[in-house]
Amino acid sequence: MSVYCTRCGSLLPVSARFCSNCGAAIPAPQATPGRPLIRPRVGRQIAGVCLALARAYGWDVSVVRIVAVLTFLFSSGLVGVAYLAAWIGIPEEPPNVPGVYPPGV
Ligand SMILES: [Zn+2]
Repeated sequence: MSVYCTRCGSLLPVSARFCSNCGAAIPAPQATPGRPLIRPRVGRQIAGVCLALARAYGWDVSVVRIVAVLTFLFSSGLVGVAYLAAWIGIPEEPPNVPGVYPPGV
């Protein structure tokens, strides 16, 4: 696996973040170095889409839910469609994760 520098065309290892030839920044293949976008089974309200977004991007889940509801009300259902798409598109957390139990239940 290798990538090419977008500026000078040098062949670089896929893990390279900067070109060793010209020093140009190499865009990361996946721009989510943190947690993957996944719908947790614990703590969800409907399908876990808001929780998935909050965890993946480090947002407050309460804020995400409030914004989602408000935009749903003002977008005449467009956000509802997006929610359904996210429900289908975002993979669910695998079951029976060792050592993880529902907190506060
Ligand atoms: Zn280069």
